[in-house]
Amino acid sequence: MIMTHPGLPSYWGYIVWAFMLIVSLWVIVAKMPGRLTIRHIQLNDIKLLGSFSRLFTSSTGLLLFIRIIVVALFFLVIYSGLTGTPVPARNIATVLTWNIWWAGLIISIFFLGSAWCAICPWDALANWFVKPRLWLLKMNNSLELKPPRWMRTVWPALLMLIGLTWLELGYGVTSDPYATALLSLLMVVMATLSLAIFRNKAFCHYICPVGRTVGFYAQLAPIELRPIDPDICAQCTGLECFNGTDEVDPCPTQLVMGSLTQNTYCTSCGNCVRSCPDKNISWRLRPQSQEAISSARPHWDEAWFMLILLALTSFHGITMMEFWETWMQQFAQIIGDSGQLLVSFSTGLMVSIIIPVSIYALFIVITRWISGSDVGFKPFFMGLVFVTLPLAFAYHIAHNLNHMLRETAGAGQLLMETLGMGSGSLVSHGRLPIPEEALFAMQGLLMMFGFWVAVKVLRYRIKSFVSEAGFRLTPILVFIISVNGFHLWLLMQPMIMRMGGV
Ligand code: SF4
Ligand code: SF4
Repeated sequence: MIMTHPGLPSYWGYIVWAFMLIVSLWVIVAKMPGRLTIRHIQLNDIKLLGSFSRLFTSSTGLLLFIRIIVVALFFLVIYSGLTGTPVPARNIATVLTWNIWWAGLIISIFFLGSAWCAICPWDALANWFVKPRLWLLKMNNSLELKPPRWMRTVWPALLMLIGLTWLELGYGVTSDPYATALLSLLMVVMATLSLAIFRNKAFCHYICPVGRTVGFYAQLAPIELRPIDPDICAQCTGLECFNGTDEVDPCPTQLVMGSLTQNTYCTSCGNCVRSCPDKNISWRLRPQSQEAISSARPHWDEAWFMLILLALTSFHGITMMEFWETWMQQFAQIIGDSGQLLVSFSTGLMVSIIIPVSIYALFIVITRWISGSDVGFKPFFMGLVFVTLPLAFAYHIAHNLNHMLRETAGAGQLLMETLGMGSGSLVSHGRLPIPEEALFAMQGLLMMFGFWVAVKVLRYRIKSFVSEAGFRLTPILVFIISVNGFHLWLLMQPMIMRMGGV
């Protein structure tokens, strides 16, 4: 029997639609926005938060302590996945990896940006294997080769993201503790090999699908690590953040703080904070839309990553609808596919990528034509693709909230049992730790947030292409409304649980 969660009630559908229509009308009649003025608040200036951020970024001991705990949990996943029960809801490997970490990770970006990467066990283990540090003794077993040119883009991470989605939803790794453990080990092997061959952290920079997803979504995080005084960075000759010092490693993704404008490749490791001789780097708060609106620079490979991230996020939602199973079976019958229906699934995955990408490209062509702009298709395509980021992010969080809040009751007991301190537990589904109405409200508000930020991004980014906006924005606005409306509709449907009850 297929078990489902209830969808968002229809009144939330009306509220979000009313919001979208009112905002859209305003966008059509409003004047082009003026110069963007952005205010930042240094985290150091806020009493409690400032002390915490200083402690977290400057104390290597605290960071090491957290990394050891995360690595211990990682080993628990491996041990339990390889030796424990194959029932996913009874095995901490699948519950911890997919229901808690994977769902919670996306939600954490909304508050903490790429903080996960600072404590990532794949990277920690790779470092301990290849570049171990024993007190003052620093070893380096890496060949330190320069990554080849073709690798120095986000294409490898994008291919990995598509592959991960295939493994997760097509091959069914999420409901297989053994495969979950193997996949986790594979990520450590890849991170270690990459560190052993290439200089800096090529795996984090170019290959890791999780790190790049976190990085792109972190463009919408309310925090950023930046220079306190930009003039000090402008006059810096040592570039310790980039080059490192005797005690501190260089920036793993080769960022220079003085010219950093986007969070995409920052792994929040804190090396720059520790290496800067002027103590000029600090966390600060910012408007959540700032980077997507203005400071992130358009690139061809990154545009494709954002667009396909949107497609894959929607695809996640589609595969958890009851009609998806029926479609897959009907299609499999037509093409003579059997067993795990992997050919049918792969076809569905490809179609789910091709359709949104083609629709976006079509709307860009129409927008260009209506606006009469003489800017080429490619700059338009890259410049406006930032509107897809808040749409994907908001839906991804709203969808994951459902998984995390409804499918993790009892996870603590399950953890105790795995550690030999309890028995007979499994995660129970449908038991919510908060009132259901509160969950619905969060989802509805997220859909409005995503739409609002997408519209703001459009109003500012379009200024690079046209001198007047008004009705010229209609095609791309229709694209934004359609995507958000589709996501809203998905949220309103009953959603299949990630793993069955027993
Ligand atoms: S980029 Fe990937 S491997 Fe690197 S720290 Fe982040 S999650 Fe870990
Ligand atoms: S050293 Fe680089 S990756 Fe690490 S926190 Fe600083 S900018 Fe981010």
